[in-house]
Amino acid sequence: MATPQENLLDWLRDAHAMEQQAESMLKAQSKRLEHYPKLKARIDQHIQETFGQQKLIDECLSRLGGSSSSIKDMTGKLMAFGQAVGGSLMSDEVIKGAMAGYVFENVEIASYTALVAAAKAAGDSETEAACEKILPQEIAMAEWLLEHLPELTEAFLVRSDDPNLEAKK
Ligand code: MG
Ligand code: FE
Repeated sequence: MATPQENLLDWLRDAHAMEQQAESMLKAQSKRLEHYPKLKARIDQHIQETFGQQKLIDECLSRLGGSSSSIKDMTGKLMAFGQAVGGSLMSDEVIKGAMAGYVFENVEIASYTALVAAAKAAGDSETEAACEKILPQEIAMAEWLLEHLPELTEAFLVRSDDPNLEAKK
């Protein structure tokens, strides 16, 4: 068994690892993108937001006296690295990347929704406020990706159909 406080601390560590992975994945995508400036700019904006989120989670963790889990962080980094490498081998990496980004943002949305409820149950209003601050940024990123997926797909298809243009990134 575990107290609400113990579960909260555990999930904050998971969130820390998740944001490390978010940073690696977003940076890898931004670095490779060349022909899709709007997507690159939105990813760069979210990298900055992710730094702010990491700071908020770190503050919650140190306030609760728990350090972040380096083992989970490492796993996250390796997974993000794998995704970046895997993506670069695909001829449609920009589309697969946007789809993977959408999935990732929705995992973040679910995580912070659970964290808000857990913080509430644990009586930790500061963690609750921190997660309430992060949640809309993840929702906005997910919505942006979904909204722009049709025009991104159209741009990719036009480039892909032209032998003189590179389409994948
Ligand atoms: Mg995030
Ligand atoms: Fe995010």
